[in-house]
This record gives sequence, structure tokens and C-alpha cells, in this order.
Amino acid sequence: MRYVEEFRDPIAAKAVLSAIETLVEEIGATAENPVHIMEICGGHTHAIFRYGLDRLTPKGIEFIHGPGCPVCVLPMSRIDECVEIAERPEVIFCTFGDAMRVPGTQKSLLQAKADGADIRMVYSPLDALEIARRNPEREVVFFGLGFETTTPSTALSIQQAARESLSNFSVFCNHITVPPPIKALLDDPHMVLDGFVGPGHVSMVIGTHPYDFIAETYGKPIVVAGFEPLDLLQSVLMVLRQIRDRRAEVENQYARVVPEHGNPVSLAAIADVYEPRPTFEWRGLGEIDASGLRIRGKYAAFDAEEKFAVGYGAGPRIVAEPEGCACGQVMTGRIKPTGCPQYGTGCTPEMPLGALMVSSEGACAAYYQYGATDDTLEAAE
Ligand code: SF4
Repeated sequence: MRYVEEFRDPIAAKAVLSAIETLVEEIGATAENPVHIMEICGGHTHAIFRYGLDRLTPKGIEFIHGPGCPVCVLPMSRIDECVEIAERPEVIFCTFGDAMRVPGTQKSLLQAKADGADIRMVYSPLDALEIARRNPEREVVFFGLGFETTTPSTALSIQQAARESLSNFSVFCNHITVPPPIKALLDDPHMVLDGFVGPGHVSMVIGTHPYDFIAETYGKPIVVAGFEPLDLLQSVLMVLRQIRDRRAEVENQYARVVPEHGNPVSLAAIADVYEPRPTFEWRGLGEIDASGLRIRGKYAAFDAEEKFAVGYGAGPRIVAEPEGCACGQVMTGRIKPTGCPQYGTGCTPEMPLGALMVSSEGACAAYYQYGATDDTLEAAE
């Protein structure tokens, strides 16, 4: 564990926190007039609360929790389509566990499983491929979900299925990409964003250049960050330095893992298997141009949307969020999770109303798990 411990060293953390405090003072940021830093990735949101960084950093910094939790931004209409596919008697539906409890309009996949659908949790699309090989009389559908981090493994499974002519395997593709929603948020006149902590895992695949537009077009600093407390503190320090110096650059704090130009093997697999959809719906954010991926025509035999006539091929289905759900406002930084009237009462990790309470990377779940429940209790009293 030595390697990890170095990034959790409390003495080093105190030194970085002291440098952050000095910079916040130099910038003139205060609790009333804070610097707004968005951590794009749900893994960073989770780490910020897990290590108490929101409380350790000065009040002059406000973290805005971005849309980088793929389970959280999946719209209800797509969960409904998952259930529709999964409830077919010939289908074995394979999914990652964290998607099981995301609410649809009628039911979640967990509820569909309880009602008799053959839904199986897997750790990799390769597990779904193996299930397809062992069950040639059944249709095996993998729920392809996630940002550029998981997109390559789904692509590789489709390529492998094509090599094996595995005709009973398909993917319900819900893969999405990080840069378009950042652009949508920057174009939103109501958003106040002074800088970004960029996603570490996604950037391992795509590199740092897809973020160039943030600095060059919008004049905002972004620092790609790792996931340990010192990674995050150092990244915040780097963002603050850019703000103080009136610079806007793409910097890479996570250079020990993130190559400037990404992973060429993964990028090649992505380019071979997918193409951008004209538009894709994000829970709480609405339709965002070119933000989703669909399976290219040459792999149509492995596209569950084609096979089962669901999804965008059957026409877009925009479904309203449940009444009282404020996920959209939380995801755009307009309110904190504790500002949602459902937080901790009508919406808990055990009984989530909104998607941000389902995944451990969701902002509401992170608040709830790591101590923001006191606010809720006070509010409820
Ligand atoms: S508390 Fe629940 S309903 Fe409210 S914003 Fe969070 S996830 Fe959505």
C-alpha cells in the first residue's frame, strides 16, 4: 500500500491546504463570493466527501458536482427500454450492479428481476459474452453503460462477438462522452464556473486534448486529476494558480496514469465500433448534441436497439423526472443535495427517488454517506 499511502500523507496534505488558503486569500475569494470549481467525475465527487475535502478546503472554494456519473445521468426512458428488453422471455439481460436500482417510470431492473425477468449482474461485457456462448438458444443482451472509461471494453466485446459470429449476443448501447456536456454547461448562461477538475479515468483513454476547447474557447482552467486526496488537493491548487495568474490551460496532475494523447488501442476500438448519435438525452440536463455513441452499421447484428426495435431507432422518448426530484438542479450546481426537499426523506440510498442517490458516485449518495445527513436531520426537525 506504500504507493497509495504517499498520496494520503497528512503532513503533505496540510502543506497543500496551507498553499490553497494563501491562494484563496490572494484571489479574494470568500464564502459569499467563492471560486466555483466543478469536479466533472463522479469518482472525484465521491473522493471529495470520503476524505472530507469539502470541509478541509477554505469556504472561498465551492465545489460544483458535475455530470460525470454515468448511472446518474441515464434518463428514465432508457431504463424503461432496458426493462422492456429484459422482460422478453428469450432474453438474458446482463448489467453492472450499480444500474440495477436506477428507477424507471414503472420499475427498476431490480424490480423487473423480482418480477421474473432473467437479469444477471456481470463485472465485464466479456462475462456476458461467455453467457451467450453457453446459452445459444437464448438472446443475451449486455447493458453498455458509461463514459469513455468503459466504452472500449464494450467495443472489444462486440469485435470479439463478430469474430466468433455469436449471433445471440447484442449490446444495448448507452455509452456517452464527457466533452459535450461540459460544453453544454459552459453555454448555459445561468452556470457560474471558474475552473474544472478533469476526469482521471476517462482521460486515460482520450488523453488531455479533447479539453482544449475549455481553455481556448471558454477561457477556463482545467486540471486532469487523480483520485487520492493529495491528487485532488494538488489539482485544486493548480486550478487556483491559473485563476490567480489569469491563465487558462489544460494541465495534467495525473500524468503518472494519463498520457497526453490517450490510449491508442482503446481509441481505435472506439472508432471502429461506434459513431456519435446526433443527440442523446441526459437525466437532468436534457438533450445534448453528439453526446452519445451508437453502434456502427457494420456491427448492426450486435445492436440491441436494431434487434429489438427500441431506443432512438424507434423515435426519442423523453420522460419527465418524478415529481419532487431535483436531480437536474443538483447536477447543474443550482442547489446542493441537501436543498432537495426529498433528500433523506423521500429519497435515500435504500429507496432512491432520483438517480443521484443510486450510485455511490452520485452527489446525493456521497452527501448522504459521508455526513451531510446532519443537515437533513436539522431540516427535518
Ligand atoms: S435527493 Fe434524490 S430526488 Fe433529490 S436531487 Fe438527490 S437524487 Fe434527486
